[in-house]
Amino acid sequence: MYADCAMRSPEELTDLFRANGRKVTPQRQCIFRALQDNRDHPSAEALFDAVRAEMETISLKTVYQTLHELSELGQVAALDLGTGMTRFDPNIESGHHHLVCRSCGKVRDLFVDYGDLSVPTASADGFQVSEVEVVFRGSCSDCAGGAARRALIPLRTDKTETVAAR
Ligand SMILES: [Zn+2]
Ligand SMILES: [Zn+2]
Repeated sequence: MYADCAMRSPEELTDLFRANGRKVTPQRQCIFRALQDNRDHPSAEALFDAVRAEMETISLKTVYQTLHELSELGQVAALDLGTGMTRFDPNIESGHHHLVCRSCGKVRDLFVDYGDLSVPTASADGFQVSEVEVVFRGSCSDCAGGAARRALIPLRTDKTETVAAR
C-alpha cells in the first residue's frame, strides 16, 4: 500500500517535472530510479555514491539540486534525524515514524498508528498540532549484535602472551 501510493515511479516523476517546467535530464532520471523503493533514507552523499556507480557524469551538485526540487514538489521529505546530515525519504506517506541507530546512523521506517498521541491542552499553550512524528533512537540489530560479539571475543594480545610464556 505504501509503495503504491507514497512513492512515485521514475516515469511519474519525469512527467511531474515536465508538467512543472523543471529540467529532465538522464542524470535526473538516474536519481529518480535510485530513489524508487529506496528505504535507506539516504543522505545526498550516499545517493551520489549510488548513482555515480551507474552514471559517471553525475555531479554531487546535480544530486543536491534534484533532491531540492523533488522536495519543493513534495516528492521527497528532507529529514533532520540528528545523524549529522539531512536524510531524504522518498516515502512521503505522512504518519510514519523512524527508528534511528545512534552508532551507524541507519534509519528505518516504522508504521505504527499512535493515534492517541497528543499534547495535553494545558501544555499546548494554544499551539495547534498538525502532525506527529516519533523518532526512536537506539542500536540497530547489526550494531547491537556486533557489540555483543566483540564482548565475547578474548583479546588477542592475551593469547600471544600466553604462548610466549611457554
Ligand atoms: Zn547501527
Ligand atoms: Zn521514512
